[in-house]
Amino acid sequence: MSSDSKSSDSKSPQRQFRPETRLVHHGILRSQFAETSEALFLTQGYVYENAAQAEARFKGESPGFQYSRFANPTVRMFETRMADFEGAEDGRATATGMAAVTLALMGQVKAGDHIVSSRALFGSCLYVVEELLPRFGVTSTLVDGTDLSQWKNAVRPNTKTFFMETPANPTLEVVDIAAVAKIAHDAGATLTVDNVFSTPLWQSPLTLGADCVVYSTTKHIDGQGRCLGGIVLGSAKFIQDNIHNLHRQTGPSMSPFNAWVMLKGLETLPLRVRQQTDSAGKVADALAAHPKISRLIYPGRADHPQADVIKRQMKGGSNLVAFEVKGGKTAAFAVQDALQVVRISNNLGDAKSLITHPATTTHQRITAQARADLGITDGFLRLSVGLEHADDIIEDLSIALEKA
Ligand SMILES: *Cc1c(COP(=O)(O)O)cnc(C)c1O
Repeated sequence: MSSDSKSSDSKSPQRQFRPETRLVHHGILRSQFAETSEALFLTQGYVYENAAQAEARFKGESPGFQYSRFANPTVRMFETRMADFEGAEDGRATATGMAAVTLALMGQVKAGDHIVSSRALFGSCLYVVEELLPRFGVTSTLVDGTDLSQWKNAVRPNTKTFFMETPANPTLEVVDIAAVAKIAHDAGATLTVDNVFSTPLWQSPLTLGADCVVYSTTKHIDGQGRCLGGIVLGSAKFIQDNIHNLHRQTGPSMSPFNAWVMLKGLETLPLRVRQQTDSAGKVADALAAHPKISRLIYPGRADHPQADVIKRQMKGGSNLVAFEVKGGKTAAFAVQDALQVVRISNNLGDAKSLITHPATTTHQRITAQARADLGITDGFLRLSVGLEHADDIIEDLSIALEKA
């Protein structure tokens, strides 16, 4: 689907606009009413001018839409704008981030195949890799993502894809995308990256060698805590060969309303994420030396364990800060309960600052040993910095730490 012929990008096709400009204009499909803002096409289907056109559309010989499970103009605008932002050729939007992860992995494997994945994953991603895929005969090996030799040693003749999340939830450990992509490609496998934590603003896995990028657009892309969504991005061939049919036939499609909210989110994403990242850096610096904090991890600080990798692959530190308070669960709960600006929630990437205690929420289901292996101690907290004034967030945390 091409962009509107009257949109500003096609007035002078030679000019290469910057990402902020493209996030406002790229991929718009204007209707005959020439509306300024992206239109919300809340429709299930499309009518054909005649029976021959319907036949041609189904044969793929006439451009246009057939049914919103396959594609919808508002959803297509979002897919086109996201693909452009990410440096991908194509993408498919989904109802949630987990639908995107499941689609991206399921689309690449069949019974008898094998997946290698980093162990530090969002809980539901871990379920897909460890429990769901094995039910269909796809085995998996979990590795410490920061140890390149473990990726290499996990390869088998039937390995089809490597999967990782970086920075990882909730420990913010960072995996070297370019190095892992090389190991995957040498083994004849692909690399799939869940890029939620860094956002498309700060990290571009495709340019580092990844074959597929997935997002939960629920997070920074919506950015204001409203709609669920996800997207799978890659080359046109990758999407056609692995994703296109599975997406159409099984129906994890994004609703047009949610796509419209996401499109409006993209317009302000650089402003929001830059502001949040700037505040997160200030919060991290303010808390790093706090006497009640035993460990603080922020990808924008020089003391991050993988600071050298971050320098090579990330343009910004993200809005997430993780820290461990002294005094275990009791202290961690007391800090959360004393907060007034920062709210307790397992979500992230919102305009509102949110804090969560992974050991008793997002990572409650995994064993105590698995938590310990990941560094998720009882005093460990994950903070998603929002759009409030940085000084209010810092004061809120300082007062709460004082009380703990
Ligand atoms: C939230 C999240 C998901 C899942 O997304 P949903 O939109 O909640 O389904 C997957 N991966 C990461 C890293 C996430 O933060």
